[in-house]
Amino acid sequence: MANDSIKKEIRVRFAPSPTGDLHVGNIRTALFDWAYARHTGGKFIFRIEDTDRERVTDQYIAAAIDTLRWLGLEWDEGPEVGGPYGPYLQSQRLDIYAKWAQTFLDNGDAYRCYCSTEELEARRETQRAANLAPGYDGKCRNLSAEASAKYESEGRKPVTRMRMPDGETHFNDAIRGDLVFEHKFVPDFVLARADGSPLYTLAVAVDDVLMKVTHILRGEDLLSSTPRQIRVYQAMGVTPEDYPIFAHLPFVMGQDNTKLSKRNGEVSIAWYRDAGFLPEAICNYLALLGWSPGDDRENVTMQELTELFTVERVNSSPARFDMKKLEAINGDKIRALTIDDFLLRALPFVTNAGIISGTDSEKAVIKSVLPIIQERIAKLSEVPQMVKFLFGESVVIDSESKAKISDDVSKDVLRKSLAALEPLTNWSHGSIDAALRAVLIEEMGLKPRIAFGAVRIAVTGSHISPPLFESMELLGKERAITRIKNAI
Ligand code: GLU
Ligand code: ZN
Repeated sequence: MANDSIKKEIRVRFAPSPTGDLHVGNIRTALFDWAYARHTGGKFIFRIEDTDRERVTDQYIAAAIDTLRWLGLEWDEGPEVGGPYGPYLQSQRLDIYAKWAQTFLDNGDAYRCYCSTEELEARRETQRAANLAPGYDGKCRNLSAEASAKYESEGRKPVTRMRMPDGETHFNDAIRGDLVFEHKFVPDFVLARADGSPLYTLAVAVDDVLMKVTHILRGEDLLSSTPRQIRVYQAMGVTPEDYPIFAHLPFVMGQDNTKLSKRNGEVSIAWYRDAGFLPEAICNYLALLGWSPGDDRENVTMQELTELFTVERVNSSPARFDMKKLEAINGDKIRALTIDDFLLRALPFVTNAGIISGTDSEKAVIKSVLPIIQERIAKLSEVPQMVKFLFGESVVIDSESKAKISDDVSKDVLRKSLAALEPLTNWSHGSIDAALRAVLIEEMGLKPRIAFGAVRIAVTGSHISPPLFESMELLGKERAITRIKNAI
């Protein structure tokens, strides 16, 4: 970025307003913030913008902290970590914003506006009727002392409004280039409500200055608030060379090319976690969503992201979220796990599904089957279905599968399999394979899918299972035989 050569510490912040679970767009922003800070050896600051306490709850804040930790996006300053410019929850900084709002009033950068909501709405209606852009019309800009006193005596409580001078705001966005905002489209804006509580524009700008933020990488939806934030910097006495550098990240779109939302895709990161996506897969996928390492690799580790991340490589056009691709990456990451790590990550899914209570012997059973399912799943949530046949003596065959083995051919397959398996002394997957193949494929002339499908359902209770012969070996001869008998 433009001022990378200036030797001042790079400070990047992620500043969500958690009004719900963090979503894909938030996390991509957090990831890029983190990567930029790590790439430059700077600081990654995590700030919670919770001045709107009706929408931002403690529960969502805790969830946001948890999500960032789960993803491995450790912050240098912020909640639970502290830092030299805290507190990092805006709700604990209200006195700071009040003080600045007062300073702006004292200096004439801001003024008291007594217009009521109804009056403002009525005037906007008139503007719309006259085909003018609706916005504050400056009515209270230059109120006389008498006029103010009159409003006060009527019991009106004023908001604090920032004066937007005539002219325009220029700034260079590190992704979008030179941008100009004409102030005729940026009306005087409210900094603080009548009760003194700050609005987003005041709190965000004051904090970015006080926390010495040097780079603001954030979603494109916030682009239009930038000239207002720059106005606050000016009023705070910050000179242009000390303004943070802005980089507005393009939107993440859904499959249908409209902005990703609950309507056209899963947006909540908590959903991905519950669905069995690994944090490293989410980070890998989101890293490539709008950023390129310079080649067409699809596998990026956090280490590589840290080494390679530059804002120049962020794409300026919107990125399209592709669930299939994320699933493919997730499958790759699952295959890259050691068995012990795979076990650790899979266990909560198996326990939550009520399949095991978590004893050591149960864990050992799960561990024994993991190597043969590692190749076959894309999400950890598929593990319970794959391991459940190993627990309990018998299996309940689901109705869909039951229908599949009710025909005469299947019954014949099961009877002949039983006869072939009962005499087996060496219960290994190799000999099970050979025994069944001889009778079902060679003797009966069946297609493997049909022949082994029936055995699979009898033994595992479902047509989805790990490889059949290995599964039977793990299950043990006695249980396998009993289950085939039960199915017959
Ligand atoms: N708190 C704002 C939001 O979640 C973002 C602030 C910023 O990045 O400038 O929309
Ligand atoms: Zn007014």
